Amino acid sequence: MTSRTDYCGRLTTADIGRTVTVTGWVARRREHGEHLAFVDLRDRTGLLQCVVDGAADLRNEYVLAITGVVRARPEGTVNDQLVTGEVEIGETAVEVLSRAEPPPFQVDSRVDVDETIRIRHRYIDLRSEHMQRNLRTRAKVNSAIRTAFERQEFVEIETPMLIASTPEGARDFVVPSRLHPGTFYALPQSPQIFKQLCMVGGIDRYYQIARCMRDEDLRADRQFEFVQLDMEMSFATGEEVRAVVSEAVADAAEATHGVRPTDFPEITWHDAMDRFGSDKPDIRFGMELTDLTDVFSATDFNAFKAPCIKGILLQGGAEMGRNKLDQLTDRAKGWGAKGLVWIKVEAGGVLNSPIAKFLSDEEGAGVVSTLGASEGDLCLIVADEWRQVAHVLGLIRIELGKPPVNEGGLHFIWVTDFPLFEDVDEAGNAVPAHHAFTMPHQDEVDSMLDAMGDREQLLGMRSQAYDLVLNGWELGSGSVRIHRHDIQQNIFTMLGIGPEEAQRKFGFLLDAFRYGAPPHAGFAFGIDRLAALLAGEENIREVIAFPKSQSGADPLTKAPTPIDDVQLDELGLRVLPPAT
Ligand code: ASP
Repeated sequence: MTSRTDYCGRLTTADIGRTVTVTGWVARRREHGEHLAFVDLRDRTGLLQCVVDGAADLRNEYVLAITGVVRARPEGTVNDQLVTGEVEIGETAVEVLSRAEPPPFQVDSRVDVDETIRIRHRYIDLRSEHMQRNLRTRAKVNSAIRTAFERQEFVEIETPMLIASTPEGARDFVVPSRLHPGTFYALPQSPQIFKQLCMVGGIDRYYQIARCMRDEDLRADRQFEFVQLDMEMSFATGEEVRAVVSEAVADAAEATHGVRPTDFPEITWHDAMDRFGSDKPDIRFGMELTDLTDVFSATDFNAFKAPCIKGILLQGGAEMGRNKLDQLTDRAKGWGAKGLVWIKVEAGGVLNSPIAKFLSDEEGAGVVSTLGASEGDLCLIVADEWRQVAHVLGLIRIELGKPPVNEGGLHFIWVTDFPLFEDVDEAGNAVPAHHAFTMPHQDEVDSMLDAMGDREQLLGMRSQAYDLVLNGWELGSGSVRIHRHDIQQNIFTMLGIGPEEAQRKFGFLLDAFRYGAPPHAGFAFGIDRLAALLAGEENIREVIAFPKSQSGADPLTKAPTPIDDVQLDELGLRVLPPAT
């Protein structure tokens, strides 16, 4: 093979007159007169037009080495869409390095191709410009993050893949043990326990670009296996963790976007829910939830005799037709609302609403002034318990206001003081919102046991857990951990985990804590999600080289596959017929 001297996408008018050898795939061939043909040759840097002998058998995706002289394209044939659009290679000698069957889809035609087919032939899809760009963006993110953590004296430590179950709360993938028949390893849902053990081990600052496995249904922003930047710090507060992570994420954004985000505002979970109706607020746009409870404090309208009433304003929304409003109302009911009230502000400030006749003049004026509505606007109102109101209006806000993924810039926000518990089960035990090692809010540490048995009080307890959110996507979570035995004991009591169960599930961590545990805190964020947002992609599969399809299968390798009887025997396993 003739050695490559240059990459296709890098030749410019400065190279005119040079004899070069370029290599790559045939992206396109066009006949040019009787005896010549144009071949656009593609490599990882881009396309280059080569003028070749028209008789040569050169088809799409053939792999070639082309040697020739760089020359200016004839006048009128310059292509300003291409970096190399001013030049071409002539006087060529072509070496066919590999022939190719016609590909199942055209490279660079992702929108028209079924995703399963793209994944089945990922090696062809990877040749496309956007996959090349996305994977490079991802590599830049990894590199920037590594450098940021190294600079801040974090130590990269690889934790094991075959472990006992971790406490992240999702379903484990399990691996049968051949040497210990009847027993199973779990694949890590995160390195949580190991990073905490590293803190007990005096590592002080740990990080890892860690692969995590969770057996959950797949979505646009979730795969079975995903990659997290996982970190933990000793003797550090939540604020210090957030500062370190913000710096690393800003570095990654700068490396891929060229602009460094400087603003990492913080909001408490309660305020995020109250103002945006979401614990992952998309702050690229306004439409905040505004409280109207006082406006209706003396109302005669039964539907508004509720503990909480809030509204949002859609500027210019008065044009929305009846059909669309009915659909929106149905959606709101589907999300659990008792109803959705709409009020249009029409010419001269006249209010048009199905409930207009139930509203007093003061109430109508109160809505308009509190929401800041003017002619042409639409007010949407929900009345119920606070959580329900926030939840429904938060979803409506996103439905009506969310900009496309690659618009509006990068808006990070830290959400702090998450609830300690997300639910209380039938037996009255609290269910942790993060994991069992999350430190309660400092105001609540001493009185935590008082909340036991009282559902409302339990659900109102705050923790020292925080999330990082980018443009409405949860990038990751973390918390200050419990390092004191007495607090951990109280939490286990509240979760209904007895001493035996605690010992069985987390014994090795609890044992380690008996030998001197420093206060510590940490965080983990999804690299897939961050890379997708930085690449301007809605779907994390676009930044994963070899993803699973939506069904969880891998159309390329056909995993998961049955294994043969010999393997099953070795593992002491029998496969039952599928349940009918
Ligand atoms: N292990 C947690 C997670 O994967 C993150 C953390 O608390 O550090 O969500």
